[in-house]
Amino acid sequence: MTADLPGLDTHFLQSLTVLFVEDDPDIHTLLDRVITRHVGTLITALDGEEGWQKFQARRPDIIVTDILMPTLDGLAMTKRVRDQDAEIPIIVTTAHSDEEYFLRSIDLGIDRYVLKPTTPQTLLKALNHCARALWRRREQESANRYVRFILDIQPNLLLVTNNERLEYINRAFLKLLGFETLEEFLASGTHLGTRLLTREGQPLDPDRQPGEWIHTLLTLSQEHGIVHLRGADPQQTTSTPFAVTFNALPELNRYIFSFSDVTHLEKEKQQLEVQAFTDALTGTCNRARLQEVLNTELRRAQRYELPLSIVLCDIDHFKQVNDRFGHQIGDDVLRQVSSLMAANIRAEDILARWGGEEFMIVSPQNDVENMRQLAEKLRVILETTRFPVVQNITCSFGVAQRQDDDTIRTLTERADKALYAAKSAGRNRVEIGTRD
Ligand code: GH3
Ligand code: MG
Ligand code: MG
Repeated sequence: MTADLPGLDTHFLQSLTVLFVEDDPDIHTLLDRVITRHVGTLITALDGEEGWQKFQARRPDIIVTDILMPTLDGLAMTKRVRDQDAEIPIIVTTAHSDEEYFLRSIDLGIDRYVLKPTTPQTLLKALNHCARALWRRREQESANRYVRFILDIQPNLLLVTNNERLEYINRAFLKLLGFETLEEFLASGTHLGTRLLTREGQPLDPDRQPGEWIHTLLTLSQEHGIVHLRGADPQQTTSTPFAVTFNALPELNRYIFSFSDVTHLEKEKQQLEVQAFTDALTGTCNRARLQEVLNTELRRAQRYELPLSIVLCDIDHFKQVNDRFGHQIGDDVLRQVSSLMAANIRAEDILARWGGEEFMIVSPQNDVENMRQLAEKLRVILETTRFPVVQNITCSFGVAQRQDDDTIRTLTERADKALYAAKSAGRNRVEIGTRD
């Protein structure tokens, strides 16, 4: 018995199968008796060939072999065994203490020597040594199985990688990828670097460079932590967003990545973004969004020297609408005006609520004359539409086209001045902004 592994010598050794290969019948008789008492099952063979056959048929836990034997010697048998099983402990009994034998047997990965003449004590000592190593390895394997079990029952997707390769992928992840086991996944040629996408929809590693996707994943985890996973069907265009975090195990040169599905959060985020840029009453763009649109469109128009026009529209005497019919009816009119305008502009034009009862249309690649015509068309539509309750309304319009050195401010000021001019000139009309 040993202090660190209590009960090992008796209990563990007694659960093992030992193959004993020895051509000397006297040694057999002597050792058979002793070893049998200490091991679970003892299999004997009289030469290397028989030993090899019995190894294949019975798969023992430990092999004890002599070296010099007829038909197939101990080292040749060991080589065959090692080719099939790199782990099985092998003890060599030998009368040879010369260097060459030792060197050859080191190459073959022999675990222990017992010098002849073999005594039961020395052989048992060697068996105990090998059993202990075997016990440790099996403990380790069972700990690994336990850890894997824990990882496999996690609902989150988990990956373990080294710097270059995927080493482990848990069941939840495999299921999502459409596989039962890691081996099946690896054999399929599926490359995670093409299934995992950036937020922008780019594969992490379209070129399939070893380890590339792992490094991109590490960078993304440190930045915003969102990656998308493409479904099993290559035709499928939808992907699922995941928040990725990782833990590095530097001493083992491993990374553990954990993915959690954030579909609901991403949806909420999109909804919030939409809300933040939408006017609650009319559903058109709000002032904040309009600012962005003007910024982008003005810059684009300046860069490519394209025309860009805007129109400001203000409902005439709207205060009276509220005063006569109430604020609710006033709101209804604002919604109706907004949808009438939205229905009568081009797809590339942007309608926004500028303030109270004022709207702006931004019209990329449109010059002032076209814009005047559009405003005039809208003016007529609004003038001739019969609104519920209120019946008639009219609107005034101020049009402006981009000039070379315009800023958002100078451009909108010009449209505002034109609108003021339309109001001053009697309302229900379109005016064009000119430079001072
Ligand atoms: P003008 O022809 O000079 O434009 O006259 P106006 O009465 O339309 O202009 P004024 O700026 O004096 O009044 C605008 C009115 O619009 C006052 C305000 O109560 C109303 N208003 C602004 N926002 C809303 C809104 O969201 N709902 C309603 N019902 N009324 C609004
Ligand atoms: Mg106004
Ligand atoms: Mg008004």
